[in-house]
Amino acid sequence: MSETLVSVWQEMYQESPSKVVIDQPYSLRQLTAEDLFVRSELSARRLATMGCAAGDRVAIDVAEPIDFLIAHLGVLRLGAISVPVPKGSSDSEIRALVRDCSPAVVLNDHPQSAAWGENGVLAMNLDANVRPDHDVLIDGADADSVALMLYTSGTTGKPKGVPLSHRNLLATARSVLAAWEWSREDSLLLTLPLHHMHGLGVGIHGTLCAGATAVALERFDVGGVIEQVRDQRATMFFGVPTMYARLLSQEGFETFAHLRLVVSGSAPLSAEHFRRITEVTGHEPLERYGMSETGMITSNPYRGHRRAGSVGKALPGVTIRLSGGDEGEILVRGEAVFRGYWQREEATREAFTSDQWFRTGDLGTLDQDGYLMINGRAKELIIKGGQNVFPREVECCLEEMDGIVEAAVIGEPDAYWGERIVAVLVTASVPIDQETVRQFVAERLSRVKVPDEVRYIEELPRNRMGKIQRELLRGQ
Ligand code: AMP
Repeated sequence: MSETLVSVWQEMYQESPSKVVIDQPYSLRQLTAEDLFVRSELSARRLATMGCAAGDRVAIDVAEPIDFLIAHLGVLRLGAISVPVPKGSSDSEIRALVRDCSPAVVLNDHPQSAAWGENGVLAMNLDANVRPDHDVLIDGADADSVALMLYTSGTTGKPKGVPLSHRNLLATARSVLAAWEWSREDSLLLTLPLHHMHGLGVGIHGTLCAGATAVALERFDVGGVIEQVRDQRATMFFGVPTMYARLLSQEGFETFAHLRLVVSGSAPLSAEHFRRITEVTGHEPLERYGMSETGMITSNPYRGHRRAGSVGKALPGVTIRLSGGDEGEILVRGEAVFRGYWQREEATREAFTSDQWFRTGDLGTLDQDGYLMINGRAKELIIKGGQNVFPREVECCLEEMDGIVEAAVIGEPDAYWGERIVAVLVTASVPIDQETVRQFVAERLSRVKVPDEVRYIEELPRNRMGKIQRELLRGQ
């Protein structure tokens, strides 16, 4: 039988059924491999009684990481498709998800929004008193069965469903296991949302495939994270850049010296934060790059030099190429890459080149050692007077200026230039005047890259993965 995420995790924990797979210290709950096996089977069999079958979509609207994991594996063991619902989704987001993938059931652990029921989705509480169906076949999925559907973050349009097979998910988990030397001795401190590739596809699936442990906090809070690391139970931490920005502003971050690996991803980590994390913790943060559609693509090396401002080299099993040789759009191939969007033929056609490379929509450059630098999304590229300006390059320059905490650079329509450059800044105290900012950039970058206008904001709007929501900055 072909391998699945379920068969691989079962094999990993066979020798140690009493090993803790997930520990939730805030609620004093733990789940051993054996508990997870029994409870996920029960959940699968109850779903079958509710009328769910292999291939059906099951929405998971569950807050606690332990319950989420039971629900998720239950769905996978039934051969159905797990659709994690982002925490705090609004009624209109739920309606859009239901319209798009029509789940048979929503698994929940709290009073749920009426938006599910009004669309005919049956609700089942994880602990509901539903008789398990003992006749249904479980663990029958194969490597090409779809296991998970993630939704794109929708920062550039309506979210699209990204179906991922067991083969895709195993490829990503295994590539990071090999690259980061993740072993059963490891314990990952996990505070990332679980509806996303970073928390689920890397954090949870990596833990399962390594036969390791995850220490899961229901949410990211700086004090809690530092306390857990101080307890020395964790060996690794995976975060997004905004988490590091907050950790850097707190006393006690030096306790991260206890960890063996500090990973950053999902959005660019500034060179300044790379330097300060290294200074405070003694660890160079390991930056990696990936997306829902492709799983993990590149990583800085575990052993060897990690470069600030670079997302590293292609992971094992992944091939990358840039559309223009050593610069251009990043194209990806490999077992972890999905086959196409859920019921979106046109978007799928546009997402692949004629020879089947996935087009990430990210622009990058490769240096002669094969390290990749990301310059931003192709859709964010600013074309001023016919010349290309990468917002990321101008942002990095601005962030080197004393007094600038963060910068976002956007293009706005301009009658003469086509697009003009607007820099939106978060400053440390008093706003720095526009001319001083422009002068600073003019001394370092070519003239076309100097912002035409500077605006000030208290905080940049970001989504939960730390990605800047540029559409909210336009015209402000
Ligand atoms: P998602 O599918 O929500 O995981 O978003 C994927 C996108 O996040 C990528 O296409 C990149 O634009 C961005 N991204 C992920 N990791 C990084 C990183 N280390 N540096 C810069 N951008 C990143």
